[in-house]
Amino acid sequence: MKRKALVVANWKMHGQRLWIEAFVQEFLRLHANHLDEYVSVVICPPAVYLLQFETVLQNSEIKLGAQNVSNEPKGAFTGEVSAEMLQDAGCSYVLVGHSERRTLFGETDAIVAAKYRAVTSFAGLSPILCIGERAEQRQAGHTEAVIAQQLDAVLKNYGAASLQNGVIAYEPVWAIGTGNTATPAQAQAVHAFIRGHIASYDAEVAQGLTLLYGGSVKADNATALAGQPDIDGVLVGGASLVVKEFATICASFAGN
Ligand code: PEP
Repeated sequence: MKRKALVVANWKMHGQRLWIEAFVQEFLRLHANHLDEYVSVVICPPAVYLLQFETVLQNSEIKLGAQNVSNEPKGAFTGEVSAEMLQDAGCSYVLVGHSERRTLFGETDAIVAAKYRAVTSFAGLSPILCIGERAEQRQAGHTEAVIAQQLDAVLKNYGAASLQNGVIAYEPVWAIGTGNTATPAQAQAVHAFIRGHIASYDAEVAQGLTLLYGGSVKADNATALAGQPDIDGVLVGGASLVVKEFATICASFAGN
């Protein structure tokens, strides 16, 4: 089955209004329209800038994503933003369980699963579930067990059907922001494991699911990653802040 490629920019806590305007204008110039047929592009800016995209996107096909979401629907949760608010602000995607959220902000598998669930309640809003092992877990040979546990937090609670409109991003923690990309073969092996694990719950959902790789993706390693059968796209941090680099990565996934 042919799955459309998806390239997601995670800007983390970077950007400013004027910079965003210039970035998007230049990206739209570099990213020729005909590529939209082959690759969907999502930008996840800091939450405070989401609404700015209503004007800067200029009817382009670029989609908007958020970097985080509350698992609660509304109420006295100072500083939090709900899935409904993100939908209202024009988001189509939300990152859930990014490793920085897990490590720096104490998000457990249970919290991540609750956030995932909160996002799936809103039509048109797709969660991007981020999973991945730490270096010492890989060295100890525990990669598949860690991945299975992170997936099962969603699968066992909410079933495989909850993945139907979702996306999974495999991001080995040792590769994020370190320059140490997983080799295409290493990434493909884990992606095949992920698809197989989900297939043990529901083969059809597994077959249709978009699986992203993330971790030091750059213009010069994107084509090799794009050539792997179970890598349907990438989640890009640092390189997504450099417009030419990001446009080249998108083109790699459009087969150019
Ligand atoms: C990320 O933050 O999701 C990420 C993959 O970062 P980087 O591309 O910088 O490794």
